[in-house]
Amino acid sequence: MPRGRRPLQRVPAPARSVTPRKPGPPDCANPRLCRTVTVTMPELPEVETLRRMLESQLRSRTIVAARRSRSRLHVSSRGGGLGALAGRRIERVERRGKYLIFRLDEGRALLSHLGMSGRWLFFEREPARRLPHVHARLDFADGARLWFQDPRRFGQLRVLPGTALARDASLARLGRDPLDPPLASAELAALAHGVRASVKAMLLDQRRIAGIGNIYASEILHRARIDPRRRAGALKPAEWAAVAAEIPAVLTEAIDRMGTTFSMYRTPAGEPGGYGERLRVYDRAGEPCRVCGTAIRRILQGQRSTFYCPYCQGRRSPRA
Ligand SMILES: [Zn+2]
Repeated sequence: MPRGRRPLQRVPAPARSVTPRKPGPPDCANPRLCRTVTVTMPELPEVETLRRMLESQLRSRTIVAARRSRSRLHVSSRGGGLGALAGRRIERVERRGKYLIFRLDEGRALLSHLGMSGRWLFFEREPARRLPHVHARLDFADGARLWFQDPRRFGQLRVLPGTALARDASLARLGRDPLDPPLASAELAALAHGVRASVKAMLLDQRRIAGIGNIYASEILHRARIDPRRRAGALKPAEWAAVAAEIPAVLTEAIDRMGTTFSMYRTPAGEPGGYGERLRVYDRAGEPCRVCGTAIRRILQGQRSTFYCPYCQGRRSPRA
């Protein structure tokens, strides 16, 4: 073991759960498929929690060395590669959808996406223990360290001139951030105009709305009392008004509670995010709806699991 101190603080880590925490849902005919769809990725609230923590830790810190592992990650050399970060000072950390953008002095930027299993780890000093799957290491002038760990290597890291961000293909594909400013119901209805996909699929479509994933789409639709299978283009204005009200309500509360904990996800203090106890439907198949007591149902939509209440979100729901 190399000598050194223990890490003082660990940045919240996104994670995925490989196996369901509960036995397969009764309405899933293929248990193997169910297992593969129980993949939890960080969404807007988890990435925003991470952004706030990283910005408070890294602002005004100067990078003295930056290097990557030899394993293939989606690291582009455009803008000079990670080595181009040496000598740069971090000015702020921004978020677009689920992307993090480290803004550096002299007009450079480091673009990061956590993919399925990426996590940023922050240490006040060089960590004593070795960690596997660390694909990027940033050393700061004051001895602090920032590592990017990603076992599955679907994460992305790219160094760009700041002026290139506007042209970056990944960012250009992103739709509207749902909180900046909050989406109006008319805007949602316009986004859904003519969309034949389900309302759940539309909320997950990062090209339309950036940052909502499987957990919060299920929660938003339950609170808005909308059947997730409904065709997006067929929702009525009053239904979009309900969705428009619940998107910021759910996401803001989740950010306030530092996200939902799944598998390894932890808050900056190393504790679980607090939104899990607020979940009304996600990962609660077979459990009673917190509103009406009906058993929560789990279905597959586009290879992803959807959780909903057949009563509150059914045709007989008070809103319908
Ligand atoms: Zn219900």
